[in-house]
Amino acid sequence: MVSNACFVLILLKGLRLFLREEFKVNRGEKAIFIIFIDGLSYDLAKRRNLFKDLDLSDLGPITPGIGYSVNQKVELFSGLKPDEVGFFCEWGLKPSFNTTKVRRYSGLLRPIRNAYILDGLIHKMVNFWYDTANIPFHLIGYFSKIKDGLVYSPTSRIPSIFKEYPIERVLVEEYGEDDIVFEEALRRIPEVPLLFISIGELDLYAHHFGLGSEKYEVKLVKTIENIANLVNYYRKIRPQGYILILSDHGMAEVTQGISLNNMEKEFGEASEKTFIYFQDSTIMRVWVFDTVLYTEIEDYLQKTPFGKVLSPEERKKLGVSTPDFGSCIFILKEGYIFRPSFHGLSLRTKAMHGYHPECKSQKTICYFSGSLQDLGYDLNRMKLESLDVFELMRKLLKPWGKTLGRKGK
Ligand SMILES: [Zn+2]
Repeated sequence: MVSNACFVLILLKGLRLFLREEFKVNRGEKAIFIIFIDGLSYDLAKRRNLFKDLDLSDLGPITPGIGYSVNQKVELFSGLKPDEVGFFCEWGLKPSFNTTKVRRYSGLLRPIRNAYILDGLIHKMVNFWYDTANIPFHLIGYFSKIKDGLVYSPTSRIPSIFKEYPIERVLVEEYGEDDIVFEEALRRIPEVPLLFISIGELDLYAHHFGLGSEKYEVKLVKTIENIANLVNYYRKIRPQGYILILSDHGMAEVTQGISLNNMEKEFGEASEKTFIYFQDSTIMRVWVFDTVLYTEIEDYLQKTPFGKVLSPEERKKLGVSTPDFGSCIFILKEGYIFRPSFHGLSLRTKAMHGYHPECKSQKTICYFSGSLQDLGYDLNRMKLESLDVFELMRKLLKPWGKTLGRKGK
């Protein structure tokens, strides 16, 4: 009787080992190639059927995170919303500042703001040499820019899949041109099993020339051709490997410039005792330090026809609930942009992102070579967000963490 039980136990143990090995061969340690395109909208990819010849599952439209690339990339590659990562947009209010110093400069520079056109021109010029975005010059002392915000940069300290797994990176931020990234990727594909590339010129071309321009069209066709080459080559070299093509946000054609530079005419001098404001390209944040003024400012912005103030419920859902990110977060409707805009150096920004993530133009792409069903996903729940794409990548990468003993914290 005892020997029979032993025999069954040994048999079960053997079966377990066999299954584990099978799992490793079939599911684990598959090579992964992630192609990240800055700013490609789902709408455009779908309408033009950009990836039709690549035999990939279309997981889109993907709802991006709120804000600009800097946060949207964090949601994609770290799974953290702004509240969790601790910043929202590139510029934020300093936690502390030298009040006397800030006030002295504020008094000197304030008159520039009142001459709107001159203020815009000076901002444009100053931004060539010194990054001040669209922050009113007299309020610049209250703001600071985040450091190491690019989540996939080797120097970033933000926790991400790049910290957790040994992913080789070929970045346009490092090589300067998409074409060099494509060349470099071809060279690395046979060498490394986990490869990530970033390309960024489509985003730039959209901002500078517009989505309907010939220059954008030429760039788009060429980029998709280069991606197809990479994918086909990858399949030859690593037929078992996974391929993911994804982006951080969509893009909308800009139709009208908006100016809310009259905030101080409406509500008096801005300071740390009253309110401080900053208009980014599509988002205005106002920090209000006076309760009565808060109601007045919120009311004023709510009545503005070209945007809306995010409600507390919405802020919680989008992960921007902390008051550190602004007492009011006002976001423009698709197609509007705050004037002047400092996205890039061109005089007029032709296309923009950073609108509400639920806008159709802001939805983005995710194409995948594997089967979601095989990975245990419920295909009925296909309305995916950036955080789901992050989870998918983590799922694919998991065997690599264990094998190499490099699983980060
Ligand atoms: Zn952009």
